[in-house]
Amino acid sequence: MSKRIFLSSPHMSEEGYEQQYVQEAFDTNWIAPLGTNVNEFENELAAKVGVQSAAALSSGTAAIHLALKAAEVGEGDIVFCTSLTFSATANPIMYQNATPVFIDSDEKTWNMNPEALEEAFQKYPEVKAVIVVHLYGLSADMDRIMEVCNKHNVVVVEDAAESLGGYYKGQHTGTFGDYGVFSFNGNKIITTSGGGMLVSNNEEKIAKARFWATQSRDQARHYQHSELGYNYRMSNVTAGIGRGQLKVLDQRAAKKKYIHDFYKRELGHLEGITFMPANEWDRPNYWLSAIQLTGEVRPVDIFEALEKENIESRPVWKPMHMQPFFEGYDFVGKGTSEQLFENGVCLPSDTKMTDEELLRVSNVIKGLFLR
Ligand SMILES: *Cc1c(COP(=O)(O)O)cnc(C)c1O
Repeated sequence: MSKRIFLSSPHMSEEGYEQQYVQEAFDTNWIAPLGTNVNEFENELAAKVGVQSAAALSSGTAAIHLALKAAEVGEGDIVFCTSLTFSATANPIMYQNATPVFIDSDEKTWNMNPEALEEAFQKYPEVKAVIVVHLYGLSADMDRIMEVCNKHNVVVVEDAAESLGGYYKGQHTGTFGDYGVFSFNGNKIITTSGGGMLVSNNEEKIAKARFWATQSRDQARHYQHSELGYNYRMSNVTAGIGRGQLKVLDQRAAKKKYIHDFYKRELGHLEGITFMPANEWDRPNYWLSAIQLTGEVRPVDIFEALEKENIESRPVWKPMHMQPFFEGYDFVGKGTSEQLFENGVCLPSDTKMTDEELLRVSNVIKGLFLR
């Protein structure tokens, strides 16, 4: 059996940057709790994406949770949320006992549809916050989304967990809204094994997020707490891995684009395959290369044919409004996200793949079309 090809797996730098930072933490016995690596990872990431401040946290999910808390989303509040996403986007709405309303996708971006968003504002003018996702590294149409959100004076949280290193009109995704969220989970473009970052130009709110993330310990010698707290901070070892990974982010994004272009060259001409949209204002990080199937070959044919060759592939996220857990919550839209789910395939986009392996994947898929 040939070596397994993964969708997207951890890829440490060839130079060993991560180990150097982790070694420093060991040498100073400063593996926990906080320390230089945490502070510097925050500074370096903020500088990289062009934002005032950042809080290093235990996960992207924790970052979304604290963004909602910072936005003062509480019991019974309505939060608009992209439907076509991973459940981690929507779960924190439930942690805050708030009520999600799911918004459909736009064919042109695969992300939140600004018209459906506007429609949702008509229906729920009292909405407290909007969570907009940048799926697979493609950016949502942020000008139009911010225009609608500003008109209605609502807090915007950008879930950029999948789009670190990607740009919208020359500006990093995750820096348009009031809060941005990144993830360093094992399958993301860079990884710390697990972790996340909350960013904002509001330094006070970020300081507050750090406070909540360390059990809301008041300034006092004894353990004093005036607020509910969480154990959401990133460790100094993990942050060391992150600092090393950040150095190769651009390299990883370049390889992801190479993978996307390779597939497009090999498969783009096949009848019934369309690639994820790249708009003229979009510079995606191409975290995953995803396609739509509109002909006789169905997604399941590709999943099965690739699996037989020991190659991992996945469906596009199943929309939140179709999930049993979120049954009963409202959805605004026309069903574009359902179609993207039903016809979608995420191709292996692992940055360690060789040309030979990319060809192996391409040939399996081509075989299905030339039958
Ligand atoms: C990975 C991911 C998250 C959550 O990140 P974790 O670090 O795994 O908690 C949130 N939203 C989206 C869209 C993701 O893909």
